[in-house]
Amino acid sequence: MKPFEFTVLKNGVARLVAGYSANLDPVVLDVLKADAIDLAKTFLIADDALTTNFIFELTNRRLTIEQATEALTTLRPQVTGFPSVTPATLATLFKKSHHLVEPDWQRLDLRMLTYLGWNDIATHQKFIVAVQADRLVGVRGTLSAGIHNGVCAICQTMSRVSMFTATTATNHVGNYRTNGNYICRDSGQCNRQFTSDEGLQAFLETVHPH
Ligand SMILES: [Zn+2]
Repeated sequence: MKPFEFTVLKNGVARLVAGYSANLDPVVLDVLKADAIDLAKTFLIADDALTTNFIFELTNRRLTIEQATEALTTLRPQVTGFPSVTPATLATLFKKSHHLVEPDWQRLDLRMLTYLGWNDIATHQKFIVAVQADRLVGVRGTLSAGIHNGVCAICQTMSRVSMFTATTATNHVGNYRTNGNYICRDSGQCNRQFTSDEGLQAFLETVHPH
């Protein structure tokens, strides 16, 4: 399952647990339970002991959010995260970036990322690494200092966003064009809000046409 599918499943489980704890009508609970189990069956590996246990947990009327979170954690091995990225990978992707500030490797959980994004506060820049058409691409741009509440172009969720302006090479050697998009200032938060990667792919098309 992809990281954003894990988020979709997590949201479905949260709705079910909220329903259990609010003691909703059994008919409503059955719908929420069927929805959550449906998501689990769609995204999880069939015939896997972890999957079977997880689905069994969902039927527990006394399931708490803590227990659900713990159960979700057991599924992490089933999340196929981001490709392996090293400082050497970044040096290749951002050849023209002098003084490239690297992400905080210690705090990164690549498995849970749909894309990798980090900020260089000192120079008001954001760096983005993502998979586009099965290839790893790097996008660099400036991030405006202003922060607004708005819809992020990438995760398509209401968030704290800033204007990201990429400087992207076109097909013509030496020509550059810029594009502005409001995106989450915090790319870690952005990743946690993903429920589809359509926004990311559309964003990449505008900042990194291929
Ligand atoms: Zn976002």
